[in-house]
Amino acid sequence: MALKLPIYMDHAATTPCDPRVVEAMLPYFTEKFGNSGSRNHRFGWEAEEGIDWARERVARLLGANEKEVIFTSGATESNNLAIKGAAEMYEKKPAGQTGRGHIITCIIEHKAVLDPVKRLVKEGFDATFLEPGPDGIVTAKMVEAAMREDTILVSIMWANNEIGTINEVREIGALCRKRGVIFHSDGTQWAGKMPVNVEQDNVDLLSMSSHKIYGPKGVGALYVRRRNPRVRLVAQQDGGGQERGFRSGTHNVTGIVGMGKAAEIALQEMDAEGARLLQLRQKMETSLTKAIDVSQINGHLEKRLPHLTNISFGFVEGEGLMMAIKDIACSSGSACTSASLEPSYVLKGLGVGDELAHSSLRLSLGRWTTEEQVDFAIENITRAVLKLREMSPLYDMHKEGIDLSKIEWAHH
Ligand SMILES: *Cc1c(COP(=O)(O)O)cnc(C)c1O
Repeated sequence: MALKLPIYMDHAATTPCDPRVVEAMLPYFTEKFGNSGSRNHRFGWEAEEGIDWARERVARLLGANEKEVIFTSGATESNNLAIKGAAEMYEKKPAGQTGRGHIITCIIEHKAVLDPVKRLVKEGFDATFLEPGPDGIVTAKMVEAAMREDTILVSIMWANNEIGTINEVREIGALCRKRGVIFHSDGTQWAGKMPVNVEQDNVDLLSMSSHKIYGPKGVGALYVRRRNPRVRLVAQQDGGGQERGFRSGTHNVTGIVGMGKAAEIALQEMDAEGARLLQLRQKMETSLTKAIDVSQINGHLEKRLPHLTNISFGFVEGEGLMMAIKDIACSSGSACTSASLEPSYVLKGLGVGDELAHSSLRLSLGRWTTEEQVDFAIENITRAVLKLREMSPLYDMHKEGIDLSKIEWAHH
């Protein structure tokens, strides 16, 4: 059978809805359309039942209590609520102290963590932005070294969305627990793909998103610990007092039900799916790095998500590469900022040079990725890179054994 093009290899950006999710959602658009806040009739009760049903499933996915799950509009909102809400709740106000408290995060976090922290810095908090090494891993040691007397909050993502690396979440959590510091983790790329147990993993606040786990867009959740310690947050949106006052606003009932179904499927299928995708990813990495010299996998080679790889190819130009592989929907190491192409700040943060960052691909596999698609991608990318290199004088020089790092380029 002919492959349908383009093939989708950008599951870290978003995933299609699972048809089983859509099926679970459908009745909530029409027959069960009620407002969960309507306490006096069946329509309201049905909507509330749907939300309870979903909350149970998200809680089970995380090893949490149902009361600890707050539904939001997505991981961006969950991160904002967790970070700003905790900072404002736990800020230091002793006499004579100038700073409102210290926050620890990392330079390769998602913008939905970095920007809330930066806003808090503008408002009088201090922050340390940890810089991981070339492997991209944030360790408990790094966090410990950055801890201060006035540290109130640590926010370190579980797995990185661009390179898939996995941080020492459990150890960082244990450290925070010992120091009485609140620990938030952006678990958007992890929860639903890999096992979570909020008790064993020592997280106090955990963000997740439905559309990264085969659920609908515009819905997410924040886990908020209720015991040992009981975490409190300042609400960032006031109104009807839904979600125990943490998040006012009429429930997105269809979305929440969809997220619940997605969580249920994720829990059932994650082991088999992870193993299958790991094999496909390994095939892709082995084939590409073997066929293409001067290529490198970015981030730690073992401590990584099974379905995601980020590979840089030397001696090709990033835009040319993306043009040449139009049949593969994936992400590049360039980010569009206003009018210009900037190299990814994550790759830069690992110390990857600008040129190599631009010629990097993030390939992320998913539930319906087939071996046939992987084979197609391997062949397509290999052909594209080798073709582009035929036009590269620098690659010729490299092959002749000239050390390009020692060349003094003429300045224009
Ligand atoms: C996708 C993503 C987000 C944003 O999630 P939304 O639900 O789209 O707001 C935040 N953090 C990480 C790590 C992500 O991958």
